[in-house]
Amino acid sequence: MRRDGVTLGIDLGATTVRAAVVDEGGRLIGQERHRLQSKEPPQVAEAIVRASKTACAAAGLPFSEMLGLGLAVDGRVHKATGVITASPALGWRDVPLLKLLQARVPKVPIALTNDLAAVVWAERMAGAAKGVDDLLVVLLGSHVGCGLVLGGRLQEGWSGLAGDLAHSKVSSAAPDPQKPAAHGRQCGCGQRGCLDAYATSTALCAWARDDIRIAQAAARAAGKPNLVGKRLLDLVGGDPDKITAAAMERAAHEGDELSRRLLDEAARMLGFSVANLLTMLNPQRLLLGGGLLSSSPRMMRLAQDAIDLYASKAARISCTVGAPALGDDAGVVGAALLAREAA
Ligand SMILES: [Zn+2]
Repeated sequence: MRRDGVTLGIDLGATTVRAAVVDEGGRLIGQERHRLQSKEPPQVAEAIVRASKTACAAAGLPFSEMLGLGLAVDGRVHKATGVITASPALGWRDVPLLKLLQARVPKVPIALTNDLAAVVWAERMAGAAKGVDDLLVVLLGSHVGCGLVLGGRLQEGWSGLAGDLAHSKVSSAAPDPQKPAAHGRQCGCGQRGCLDAYATSTALCAWARDDIRIAQAAARAAGKPNLVGKRLLDLVGGDPDKITAAAMERAAHEGDELSRRLLDEAARMLGFSVANLLTMLNPQRLLLGGGLLSSSPRMMRLAQDAIDLYASKAARISCTVGAPALGDDAGVVGAALLAREAA
């Protein structure tokens, strides 16, 4: 192993910080996972440093020999200033994370990036799209995530917002007092009609709960039993608050009309949005994955059908669709490899 090729990759999520020592080929040499005890920025910076040093110990290398430290954050990263401008996962706004880390490890160069930028870079350098210069990764889980490499370069946008597919609009965002029911669903970002308000595991459950409660109220008013989402409700013991994406997938499989309609509509919205990206960016490869898509064959199939249907023929024909290869490791691998580029 070449020591001069070793960097640290950190993946900072809502509940855990993961650190790994990664070699130039993207292989993990030593790693550590910490649960965050606090989301206060100084404590999180401490946890990052601790996890990094433990990962170095696991790799049998001193921290001082790290060529650089790459940090992938679940949030919006302003690279020029090293500030996390927004991270709903951590409950952060305008946190100067780079400064907090530099104060603790002044001798190691630090590169900050968004977690999906790290994922797409990892897949491009060491995963399912090695050597592909025009690449799009879309992950669907509790959020929609998207990473872009174009012309061999990672695209993060001037203020770190490139690839924000989650908040592209798939439904009417403008309020219409005449038709309140036609408003797009409320998104966590404060706007309406975002893809993230429909096509994620969290959004799907909220959507099903809302539709069931509306149907229950209508059935009560009419003095009839509610039949909407009946199979789904049976699967979760009659409690709409216990609805999960997995229960919806199963209910859809067993013929539940509501689950089918929402999963299908969410998959179609995702496919529609991704198709427009294909048409606009002409990537050579598209990697589709994430917890929700990989556990829902129904959504995966429908999303791919929608991509085939809505992308321009020329863009679709020149793009191969596959699955990411690195799974949970992609964040740390990508962050470490980006730290190498920066160093
Ligand atoms: Zn939004």
